[in-house]
Amino acid sequence: MSATGRFLDTLRASVGAAHVLTPAEGDLAAYEQDQRQRFRGKARAVVRPASTDEVAAVVRACAAAGVALVPQGGNTGLAVGSVPDASGAQIVLSTQRLRAVRALDAANATLTAEAGCVLTQVQQAAVGAGLLFPLSLAAEGSCTLGGNLATNAGGTQVLRYGNARELCLGLEVVTAQGEIWNGLSGLRKDNTGYALRDLFIGSEGTLGIITAATMKLFPQPKARLVAWAAIPDLAAAVQLLARAQAALDAGLTGFEVMNRLSLALVARHYPQQRLPLRDAPWCVLLELSDSHPERHARAALEPLLARAIEDGCVRDAVIAENLAQATALWQGRERISPAQAIEGLNIKHDVSLPISRIPAFVDEAGALLAREVPGARLVTFGHLGDGNLHYNVQAPEGQAGGDFLLREEQRINTLVFDAVARRGGSISAEHGIGSLRAAQLPRYKPPVALAMMRAIKHALDPQGIFNPGRVLA
Ligand code: FAD
Ligand code: ZN
Repeated sequence: MSATGRFLDTLRASVGAAHVLTPAEGDLAAYEQDQRQRFRGKARAVVRPASTDEVAAVVRACAAAGVALVPQGGNTGLAVGSVPDASGAQIVLSTQRLRAVRALDAANATLTAEAGCVLTQVQQAAVGAGLLFPLSLAAEGSCTLGGNLATNAGGTQVLRYGNARELCLGLEVVTAQGEIWNGLSGLRKDNTGYALRDLFIGSEGTLGIITAATMKLFPQPKARLVAWAAIPDLAAAVQLLARAQAALDAGLTGFEVMNRLSLALVARHYPQQRLPLRDAPWCVLLELSDSHPERHARAALEPLLARAIEDGCVRDAVIAENLAQATALWQGRERISPAQAIEGLNIKHDVSLPISRIPAFVDEAGALLAREVPGARLVTFGHLGDGNLHYNVQAPEGQAGGDFLLREEQRINTLVFDAVARRGGSISAEHGIGSLRAAQLPRYKPPVALAMMRAIKHALDPQGIFNPGRVLA
């Protein structure tokens, strides 16, 4: 039997023959194609272990054979990090079958779940105990807890509850040697040396396979109020954010900004979608969560908006009257990305900056792009409360997205990222580096930081079997 045949047999012995899928047995497209259809790789096999021990056995087999593996959760990542390369040599390790919620400790306000749990499943488990798991993003029906942690996902509640990193108290990880590290403590304080947990969070599958995690839970808010405001410019949005934080404090759970073109695309491709005040230069979606009944939240929000309208910070505003209206407003915000995809291929930038510098960045980058790439359409939106903009560039009206990307993508990336770097920002706020940004990272990350990252990678994964070429090119 060939070496490949023996290797596949070891995998079959580890997880059961039904859970080793090879190209000869069927189309593996769902595991090989990235979320945005920008890249299709080729897997030697897809392996679906059902327990931590099985994951460890798969990793040991790969380490012994020198075969690289790519961890994959929901495959919703936006940085092309969860699909194999084109060589046909890599294994996809899918966490699909690691689906158990292992424990929920209501008194400790923690939940321990396996990496393949879909985010909505984790949210529902918390609701079942009368608690809240606040991580929330548009892909929550298919992304997994392991993927959320591996990318340190952000989403719509970061302002109040933090990224996936801030929500995590402990991890279980399979190392590159196939050992199991059980770090599933539910401890809020633990100063016993290096923060190993934090090394794996955000490492995008390059340092270890996350198999389970202990996450923080919170009390459920009694009331949620969503407002939508028309704003003259981004400086006013920054001002409104500061006022909202001063007045609402931790009650402010969301502060999203959207430019006129973002909403015009939603209106074009989702004509039924309610989008109040969408002709304003910018709109803001504010969400307030309160531990008191709704009238308390209204009593805080209404005067804030009224004063802002009086002094011109806000042009006009509406407050959702009920849950259905609030959901519809969030849907308007969340349809921007799908509307952009329908409009055509586009260039995405997920950047962060100090909030105070965002208006100047948007002015500068907008002027540069108008000069260098006339007609390019700027679809600018995102989590202003976190200093995170999705600064996307759509082809000029009527031009094919594919041609535009081929011609302009590199030049536009450099132009935008250089402007971000000049103002002290980051070229990836929440989506990660994957292979999409790996080549660009060295231009923006200090050499000392890159050298430390390489040293960590080498120490934990000396053979380089975990997700090679991702993050560190
Ligand atoms: P995958 O795509 O499968 O993998 C992502 C990366 O993590 C890969 O590098 C993979 O190798 C690694 N990985 C996956 N599982 C493991 C594991 N168990 N152990 C080690 N490594 C692993 N992201 C945000 O941050 N905020 C948003 O608001 C947001 N909105 C989105 C909206 C839409 C419509 C879509 C499609 C995506 C959005 N994303 C967002 C990106 C994406 O959903 C997140 O990055 C998500 O956390 C990825 O989870 P996943 O299970 O799909 O991971
Ligand atoms: Zn986002």
